[in-house]
Amino acid sequence: MREPQEVFRPILPFPHVDNLIDSHGRRITYLRLAVTDRCNLRCRYCMPAKGIPFVPHDEILRYEEMARLISIFTDLGIRKLRLTGGEPFVRKGLLDFICSIKQQQESIRIYLTTNGVAMAEHLEALAELGISGLNMSLDSLDPKRFRQITRRNYFDRAWQTFVKALDLGIPLKINTVLYDSIKTSEIIALAAITKRYPVIVRFIEQMPFNGLNRVSVGAMTARHAEKIIRKSFPGLESRGASGTAIRYQVPGFKGEIGFINGYSRRFCQTCDKVRITVQGMLKTCLYDNGRLDLKAMLRNRAGDAEMRAAVRKTVFKRAANGFAAEAEALSHEKHSMAAIGG
Ligand code: SAM
Ligand code: SF4
Repeated sequence: MREPQEVFRPILPFPHVDNLIDSHGRRITYLRLAVTDRCNLRCRYCMPAKGIPFVPHDEILRYEEMARLISIFTDLGIRKLRLTGGEPFVRKGLLDFICSIKQQQESIRIYLTTNGVAMAEHLEALAELGISGLNMSLDSLDPKRFRQITRRNYFDRAWQTFVKALDLGIPLKINTVLYDSIKTSEIIALAAITKRYPVIVRFIEQMPFNGLNRVSVGAMTARHAEKIIRKSFPGLESRGASGTAIRYQVPGFKGEIGFINGYSRRFCQTCDKVRITVQGMLKTCLYDNGRLDLKAMLRNRAGDAEMRAAVRKTVFKRAANGFAAEAEALSHEKHSMAAIGG
């Protein structure tokens, strides 16, 4: 499945503008921030049954530290913020935090990635706050399979979030991992919900971030999933690409179907995002080990200008693509996606 891409040499000089551009000319406007590594599910592709060794509380970014980072990144041109985890609402006080960010940073759109299990009760408040959208993980429409994959019996709760989010008019995307044991019938059933519901169902290639430091053999590619869906829906029409997803629609259906080549890494040339892990490391690519310790800078009382300069420099040196980032990484340990922030 690995198809190394051409490694580009830096093509631009370090720019004298106060926003985030890497040496390959990609502008960074999207920040994903992991607010916790704790989770109420144990998805098999993300972590082992016993969970991951959780980061001690004092090593996790505090809310005021996250708020300061968001302000610094907003000054650097970030316009889209996604709060993720772990499961974001497992962290106490998240709603108040979102509310304060909304008040302080009018220029950014805030999104959440969630498994939906403990979300339904917060949806009204999120809709009122003007949340820009939810990405919800859902790997099967069959409650038994949901339990098998997530090791928890919470399908009904997740489905309640799905229905309520749509009722409230919150833009919704579904994330389905092409997990080793995913069945053709499950892929087709999930694609078929786009007939009735205005959601984008995105099939994501499984990546090696499962906390076991092993890659699953035989995981399905996005291209293969697309072939499966085309057999059932031959009229599938392209709707272009947005971010990392290539999108399609069955004419007449309310929703769309997307594919994310997370492992085969076909979207790096247009990637506009960076991540901050739960421990405050800046990752300029999912496949690097973290390139700037923002938490250390915060706790060593670095000033805003110093932090902005360090972030700009780090982003400028971003690897050309996920294969290069992986090759350059100092350690090849693959953490759980729950600690990285998906
Ligand atoms: N708990 C939330 C959820 O599941 O949506 C947010 C965090 S989760 C780590 C973020 C995203 O990462 C989810 O869409 C999940 O499906 C995806 N993910 C987790 N492990 C993955 C893996 N090994 N390969 C590909 N995607 C993965
Ligand atoms: Fe939890 Fe999300 Fe990882 Fe599943 S994918 S274990 S819901 S963090």
